[in-house]
Amino acid sequence: MTDSLISSAYTQALEVIGSVEPRIADATRQELADQRGSLKLIASENYASPAVLLTMGTWFSDKYAEGTVGHRFYAGCQNVDTVESLAAEHARELFGAPYAYVQPHSGIDANLVAFWSILANKVETPALEKHQAKNVNELSEADWEELRHELGNQRLLGMSLDAGGHLTHGFRPNISGKMFHQQQYGTDPETGLLDYDAVAAKAREFRPLVLVAGYSAYPRRVNFAKMREIADEVGAVLMVDMAHFAGLVAGKVFTGDEDPVPHAHLVTTTTHKSLRGPRGGMVLAQEEFAADVDRGCPMVLGGPLSHVMAAKAVALAEARHSSFRAYAQQIADNAQSLAAGFLERDARLVTGGTDNHLVLLDVSTFGLTGRQAESALLDAGVVTNRNSIPADPNGAWYTSGIRLGTPALTTRGFGHDEFDKVAELIVDVLSNTEAGTTKAGGPSKASYTLADGVADRVKAQSAELLDKHPLYPGLVLG
Ligand code: PLP
Repeated sequence: MTDSLISSAYTQALEVIGSVEPRIADATRQELADQRGSLKLIASENYASPAVLLTMGTWFSDKYAEGTVGHRFYAGCQNVDTVESLAAEHARELFGAPYAYVQPHSGIDANLVAFWSILANKVETPALEKHQAKNVNELSEADWEELRHELGNQRLLGMSLDAGGHLTHGFRPNISGKMFHQQQYGTDPETGLLDYDAVAAKAREFRPLVLVAGYSAYPRRVNFAKMREIADEVGAVLMVDMAHFAGLVAGKVFTGDEDPVPHAHLVTTTTHKSLRGPRGGMVLAQEEFAADVDRGCPMVLGGPLSHVMAAKAVALAEARHSSFRAYAQQIADNAQSLAAGFLERDARLVTGGTDNHLVLLDVSTFGLTGRQAESALLDAGVVTNRNSIPADPNGAWYTSGIRLGTPALTTRGFGHDEFDKVAELIVDVLSNTEAGTTKAGGPSKASYTLADGVADRVKAQSAELLDKHPLYPGLVLG
């Protein structure tokens, strides 16, 4: 696609939008300017291609298509069938998966689909058999109660939030921690690394139905062959949530034991993080779960977002291109450069480094909470997010860590030197930030003071990096 085509497509689209609600057109322009002008280090974000973004802005958005390909509850879904089939085909080919379900609207939806598929597939439910044999309307209140009881009280073992797991991996306040009787595994208190023997011991004791692997903030690779051995030993289903590192799997940076697809019964993912697609989710499944996963709608989903499924097909086609492998490798190389840049400047990293796409910086050594560090960095135009670290004394709200990821800036073309400079700028901000005090005079976990001149100095140096690697370089809004 040529630069002038993209520029005129967006210029005209914004004119049309602005003729109805100019403030939305303005906010859209401003968002582009903000994204262009800041160092985006949020590990779960990226910059999708213009082709992916444009695909989402079409009339597919207007179509209802509950059901599955060729089996819809609405008429006139032939084009949605084309889109959904293509997205699923690209996903199967890209990941070498027997089955792909591309309808989930987000990562959380994908996990819910996977959980309910496992329950439907693995839990013996005489009441459910009755339910399927009869018209649902004929089920008595007692039948429903029996069914709820049969499906309830199943066990799930997932990685704890402060070790790097996700809310949906059994965290109490999330529905996954309520619908399952849950326990969590952590990481080794000394090294911060996953201890497979400890996971196995916990699994033997707890005997979960579902063993969840995958993470949001663990800066290391996982051996999924070992996780499968643990699951098999205790008769559990292995579900891997690769939302964060799907791009590294797609780009063949994670292969063999580090590729979850051949080892897990079910793999869930988002499509918008390192995979660089539209916001959305996806489930990859072994054949034995395919029919249950297909019941995502009506089990937990409503009508699929056809325009997003179309964009998933475009993004997955992009990820099948050889250039995506180079991109994925660069994500991992850049994370190494970022980690090395911090370690050279005496910063402390959880696990001492990284071998995936993210780095978890312990900001307590700067005398700050994650919340203070996140805010001071934002003042200097560095966009990060605060994150718990193992056994975090500041809990999940204030935290003691900052999570930094390389996928987005790698898309802009940043390499080793730029990421070393990013580490320097972050250390500059944090070492010039002082924790504040509360009104009562005690230590505050939120307020802070950034020394005069630092934000401007860092912004000027960031601007040099950003100007060298512009976002959507050919896109000029008229
Ligand atoms: N799973 C993991 C591991 C994640 O990191 C996230 C998002 O941060 C999700 C699931 C949820 O994705 P979404 O925000 O699309 O629901």
